[in-house]
Amino acid sequence: MPKHILLFFFLCGGCLAGWWSSNITQAQPAQSKNDTAILLKPARLFDGEQIREGLAVLIRNDKIQTVAPLAEIQIPADAKFMELPNATLLPGLIEMHSHVLLHPYSETPWNDQVAREHLSLRVARATNHLRNTLLAGFTTIRDLGTEGADYADVGLKQAIEQGIIVGPRMLVTTRAIVATGSYAPKGYATEWNVPQGAEEADGENLIRIVRSQIGKGADWIKVYADYRWAKGKAAPTFSLEELKLIVETAKSANIPVAAHASTVEGMRRATLAGVETIEHGDEGTPEVFKLMKERGVALCPTLSVGNQTRKPEMMKAALAAGVIIAAGSDVGVFAHGDNVRELEAMVKVGMTSLEVLRSATSVNARVLHLGEQIGFVKAGWRADVIAVEGDPTREVSALRKVKFVMKNGIPFKGAE
Ligand SMILES: [Zn+2]
Repeated sequence: MPKHILLFFFLCGGCLAGWWSSNITQAQPAQSKNDTAILLKPARLFDGEQIREGLAVLIRNDKIQTVAPLAEIQIPADAKFMELPNATLLPGLIEMHSHVLLHPYSETPWNDQVAREHLSLRVARATNHLRNTLLAGFTTIRDLGTEGADYADVGLKQAIEQGIIVGPRMLVTTRAIVATGSYAPKGYATEWNVPQGAEEADGENLIRIVRSQIGKGADWIKVYADYRWAKGKAAPTFSLEELKLIVETAKSANIPVAAHASTVEGMRRATLAGVETIEHGDEGTPEVFKLMKERGVALCPTLSVGNQTRKPEMMKAALAAGVIIAAGSDVGVFAHGDNVRELEAMVKVGMTSLEVLRSATSVNARVLHLGEQIGFVKAGWRADVIAVEGDPTREVSALRKVKFVMKNGIPFKGAE
């Protein structure tokens, strides 16, 4: 059979399946499980940008329908009413840098997690991590590399979308890309071929590896622009040309690139190549932050990990340059569900609680290209909302007192 006829059958098979399932949906009665309305009346609302009082929020199915004073809302007869006294309602938090397939190194060193833990063990543990993350109020995560667990993030994301396990909305990067010889595990006899914590590639081969990861489900490409690979010191890995090749290849599929970089030269090359976020940035200088600001590259400072004496100085320079700060913690290095630790650390290095809340909601949503869907409590946006006791725009640690969590209109915590 000629190829084009085969293709025709594939396409039609897909169309037919779509037509059939939509007809089945229409046959359901109106008050099906998916047709729900919830009216939330918090003490105050943080809408993603500012704190507002005297407002109620009507959720219809998976969307925010109305944000207005209670008296002005047309309340559907079947709406469930939830009063949230003393609580602040806010957009579901967004974690920009997680590793759900890792658990704290204080429990098991990274090397042993990558080399000795079965994939099935790691996946089983990750399901707990994902549940803890959602119940802590993080309704979206960008997971930045499986660290040796192949494409398990793609399957975990599907399991959440299909309602098999409980967890946040996931954006995944799959294996991440490192220059040959630069990553780990290291230190074995040279005749051994030790599987690495990320996929190795160089030169022209980067095109194939980027395409392969996208084909297997990567929402973002993660690349290591530098690493501790020579003499134990962080040093740039990929050349500017190689990084450009990665960005250009990903861009044709509308896939953004995130770069791990802690050296000035790694950050400079990644920025010039067109990556959208830089992770860590430990050695960042006023000059390189100025360049990032000019190019609109966001910094994900991961204050919870890395050089704790260098981080405050680095953040001072980044804030002075006006760089976009995306809240991302490198959670996995520490316990999943404790993600608020990063937001508290951001306050300690000079951001206000309000700025940190914006970063973890509307700013992160925009950096993810999802600013029209999540990160705000606004009519038409997805119903990803949480409620916490107290006012987190005054005291960010209020985010630890999560009373209510809803993702896509489905309550996971706090609704009876
Ligand atoms: Zn990381």
